[in-house]
Amino acid sequence: DEVSMNKLSRPCRMMLLVNPQSGKGQALTLYNNHIQRMLSEAGIQHTLVITERQNHARELVREADLSQWDALVIMSGDGLLFEVINGLLERPDWEEAIQIPLGILPGGSGNALAASIHHYSGAPQVSSEELLVSCGFLMCKGLVSPMDLVCIHLSSCPRVFSFLSLAWGFVADVDIESEKYRHVGSARFTVCTLVRLASLRVYKGKLAYLPATDLPKHEESLRNKKTLHCNNQPPTSVPGRPSTVSPRVNTFHNSCHSNNSLKVRKVESTPSRSTNISLTGPSDSLLPPLDQLLPSDWVVVQEEDFVLVLAMYQSHLGEDMMAAPGSTLDEGVIHLFYVRAGISRAALLKMFLAMEKGTHLANNCQHLVHAKVRAFRLEPYTPKGIITVDGEVVEYGPVQAEVHRGLARIITG
Ligand code: ADP
Ligand code: MG
Repeated sequence: DEVSMNKLSRPCRMMLLVNPQSGKGQALTLYNNHIQRMLSEAGIQHTLVITERQNHARELVREADLSQWDALVIMSGDGLLFEVINGLLERPDWEEAIQIPLGILPGGSGNALAASIHHYSGAPQVSSEELLVSCGFLMCKGLVSPMDLVCIHLSSCPRVFSFLSLAWGFVADVDIESEKYRHVGSARFTVCTLVRLASLRVYKGKLAYLPATDLPKHEESLRNKKTLHCNNQPPTSVPGRPSTVSPRVNTFHNSCHSNNSLKVRKVESTPSRSTNISLTGPSDSLLPPLDQLLPSDWVVVQEEDFVLVLAMYQSHLGEDMMAAPGSTLDEGVIHLFYVRAGISRAALLKMFLAMEKGTHLANNCQHLVHAKVRAFRLEPYTPKGIITVDGEVVEYGPVQAEVHRGLARIITG
């Protein structure tokens, strides 16, 4: 019935993936201090999986027997969830796999999705451990909601799926440069924003988008269902795709914890050469190939000099940055923002400060433009630069994206 469909059953078997390196490197301590007892008391049987390197989680969920789990929860920053979502969509059974309830507990330095979900719950904006504890309670409630994913095409890589944002220019540069300040936690973005303001520059490129028209709700869901069913080629035997090897699994019990609802597993998976292969997943009905002209109903932005381009599909860009206050979890809309060149440093600083409360759009900044879109394409002119997707660096160059309404499911509490 509908109730059991939208709520995690009890007892619940949860795989909890923790990245011990995320944030200030304290995710495991935070887990021990705040989360372990909370989940146990809520009757959530969880198996702790500690990631050992980049792409470990991606490989693991690509191979896992998902019938063993009621939910996959990550305790890290947004980067680890990006791996998990892409791992699920790389599976031959992606259509079923992406239905597994996902969850996020803020343990990293970039905890934008956790902050967004917390905001949607109606709770006042908090950060750090307060946010973690509050998200822990939402997790225990176990309500599951659909969440939009955005499919991103890059020029020579396979498609990737994104749940949060795509950035180019100022925001992308800050995100990556701030990696070296990760010891200060989420304050790394503030520190780096100030550094970047001092050396403000212009980014040249071409931006175009397909505006989101307000379709009636039922047409929207029909359209979404159609997208889900007209998938790509059968993914079972792709020529040239190396066959994947099942992970070797060693189980051991962590002696620090006597609680029997906690099992700790050390998982080794064989690194695969095909980490980025994504011939699976839903097809993109709105996007022509990246090297072909766009349809005539697309809007081409006249300006070609930008300070930043930012596509958001959730409300928060960081714990205390509500970049897209109008965004909801599954409206099937990309909030596209760009800042035209010519903005003063003072105005840009004012815009970023206003983002904390999400009031930047009300400030009437002449250089900030916001459009609700279903798809967009960005072609940077400069040969070098940074583009980030969900805070992770992707291939630099032309890029296009399309939203898939409610493709994933996430625990919202
Ligand atoms: P943060 O918000 O602190 O950046 P993320 O979850 O975004 O935290 O993780 C940062 C990066 O660390 C991601 O690219 C992720 O793939 C990678 N990663 C995951 N596990 C490990 C590990 N054990 N050691 C090093 N890097 C890891
Ligand atoms: Mg990150």
